[in-house]
Amino acid sequence: MKHLDDLKYKGKTVFLRVDFNVPLDENGNIRNDNRIRASLPTINYLIGQGAKLVIASHLGRPKGKVDPKMSLKPAAKRLSELISADVFMAPDCVGEDVDRLKKELKSGQVLLLENVRFHAEETANDAGFAQKLARDIDCYVNDAFGSCHRTHASVAAITQFVKEKAAGYLLQKEVKYLSKAIRSPKKPYVAILGGAKVSDKIGVIQNLLNKADDILIGGAMAYTFFKAQGYEVGKSLVEDDKLQIALEVLTKAKEKKVDFRLPLDHVLATGIDKEAQIKVSESFPFPADWMAVDIGPKTVAEYSKIIARAKTIFWNGPLGVFEIDKFAKGTVKIAEAVAASKAVSIVGGGDSIAAVEKTEVSKRITHISTGGGASLEYLANETLPGIEALE
Ligand code: AMP
Repeated sequence: MKHLDDLKYKGKTVFLRVDFNVPLDENGNIRNDNRIRASLPTINYLIGQGAKLVIASHLGRPKGKVDPKMSLKPAAKRLSELISADVFMAPDCVGEDVDRLKKELKSGQVLLLENVRFHAEETANDAGFAQKLARDIDCYVNDAFGSCHRTHASVAAITQFVKEKAAGYLLQKEVKYLSKAIRSPKKPYVAILGGAKVSDKIGVIQNLLNKADDILIGGAMAYTFFKAQGYEVGKSLVEDDKLQIALEVLTKAKEKKVDFRLPLDHVLATGIDKEAQIKVSESFPFPADWMAVDIGPKTVAEYSKIIARAKTIFWNGPLGVFEIDKFAKGTVKIAEAVAASKAVSIVGGGDSIAAVEKTEVSKRITHISTGGGASLEYLANETLPGIEALE
């Protein structure tokens, strides 16, 4: 895979795929511009090198139709402020008008294409559409790590129609840290997995069973593992169709001698709301109308000890319903334990970022991945369609 610095850009028309999938409020204002800022090093480098820069992204899930609420116009305005230069906004991402705007670009100028997902061909990875995106393009740069697990036209098919291609700085950084965890993790390697569903993480768990020394499970996911072993878990969130897979994981962990941990104690609540009653339980059965919402203090202490001796840590998913403060203690304490450790610590995307940010320890984490789904898939499959397309 070529890196950004490996190509020459002066006077060339460069198609840069970014992830500007920013959250917007009801008035179309950007609530958080982290994703735009994350690609600024690549954008500024390309401008500085004299590229004619054509930037493309998706935003939301417009399902192949134009939806003005998912326009990238607010992102164009924000980008223009951040780079202190004009950003021309295209009316679409393909078509005659767009082709003309591409041709009119001068070295160092920036054109932002409209949401690629306004066309159903994008998610279908349609070759004809990819060819239109690639019209008059000399170089393709991918900096959209968060989209690299998608076999979509602007991520995958387009690379067949552009001669020179490279990974942007953000993509390079993501690959650097995540591939370290895949290929040469310093031991002990501790994985912390939480969140709602086993099904989202089964691929990662299976891969980690071959790599990690300790796997610490929290969140609702734990209760699928408990129920699979015959414990009564009250009304805790369980995936009943994943009980068999959960048992297989437990057996494989034993065979591989992986230290696979489930919570030792549980914060139970009468419901997921801040008025709910709570209590800590160390045993089963849970009362029928109570549910687990967080890991308990004994689990925090035990997991923190394991985290303290780690040399590599991968963490994905909150250990409880962290959105509600009184169910967030376990997640907060584990975030603090990860931040306090001297290990290379990698936090994978989505809710995990929100959980870490809640604790203000993010500066002490080695790498916070910008892609939740992408980082999980990369760890599970050790490659991604968007990365393969660059090779
Ligand atoms: P995920 O996207 O799989 O990482 O799941 C994140 C979501 O899992 C968050 O919205 C949490 O509130 C939720 N979650 C974590 N632990 C629990 C739990 N014990 N019961 C219900 N939801 C949970």
